[in-house]
Amino acid sequence: MNDPRELIIIGGGPAGYAAALYTARANLNPLVIEGFTWGGQLMITSDVENYPGYADGVLGPAMMADFRRQAERFGAEFLTDDVTRVDFSERPFKVFVGDDEHRAEAVIVATGASARQLGLPSEQVLQGRGVSYCATCDAAFFRDKVVVVVGGGDSAMEEATFLTRFADKVVVVHRRDEFRASPIMLDRARENHKIEFVLNAVVDEVLGTAEGKVTGVRLLDTVTGETSELEADGVFVAIGHDPTTALFLDWLDHDDQGYLVTEPRSTLTNIPGVFAAGDVQDHVYRQAVTAAGSGTMAALDAQRFLEDEKHRPAPAAVTTA
Ligand code: NAP
Repeated sequence: MNDPRELIIIGGGPAGYAAALYTARANLNPLVIEGFTWGGQLMITSDVENYPGYADGVLGPAMMADFRRQAERFGAEFLTDDVTRVDFSERPFKVFVGDDEHRAEAVIVATGASARQLGLPSEQVLQGRGVSYCATCDAAFFRDKVVVVVGGGDSAMEEATFLTRFADKVVVVHRRDEFRASPIMLDRARENHKIEFVLNAVVDEVLGTAEGKVTGVRLLDTVTGETSELEADGVFVAIGHDPTTALFLDWLDHDDQGYLVTEPRSTLTNIPGVFAAGDVQDHVYRQAVTAAGSGTMAALDAQRFLEDEKHRPAPAAVTTA
């Protein structure tokens, strides 16, 4: 068992590292349990052109290394391992990494979310090289190109519609002939002359060159079982996201999709002293810069909480007559 410290941050993405930077500079000596594969979703992107301050763009992994180094410079400590269990029943809170128990007066949960993947080996190889999970991030790389969007929900319709600002043609591939997307989003996509639909089809393989550039997809017809090929320069997978919250669901309020619920305009969860920041509690904005902003809010919320606790009068001693 380790001595209780003031703060543990769980998660090593933009939210966790921003929280680490602010709380390290506030002398809270945070321990960041950053996960075995630290860095978050930016580790599977290539060029990031929309993070303010990087005027020439930056590679996602390089940016996360910068974030981490900046927090380390002010004394944040890192544990490159996965949290296996938490116990938020009383303070100090307990955070377990295997058999090792870490304790802290406050905890920031910043474990993020992950985009659902198709699960194809070719998808893995071409991630960040034409396979993307975020049109807001990558659409501008596909000016005058042909792109495929996979999915039949609101995200797929929104991404397809956004992509038409850049791409010549957007082909939405959906595995059924009915849509999960809301009628208004679907109609908007259907009315867009740059968008075509291929229904009852799944992407069976992402096709690419030996140099690692997407050239198209192989489609499998879910009704006939026939395959066909479609030429494309990019593939946007828009089949949903999963928040990384399994460890916290017994403790923290969450919505029906598993996202942690925080008090409006704050990072406060239902347990005083436990804060949630970044994509783990945000399924709307999902940007590195908004996650970093949310991590900063959590740092300030945690700092105030710890300060208030210090000045809270001790419970009156029980006296006997
Ligand atoms: P979603 O609603 O869960 O839709 C996921 C889509 O991907 C479904 O059409 C699903 O097909 C398909 N899919 C799932 N796994 C697949 C696989 N392995 N291969 C092929 N297709 C697969 O997710 P979402 O679109 O990301 O939306 C999530 C939530 O955010 C929703 O509540 C949505 O309304 C909301 N949202 C709102 C807006 C907006 O209002 N502006 C924008 C985006 C998202 P099936 O239908 O066959 O299951």
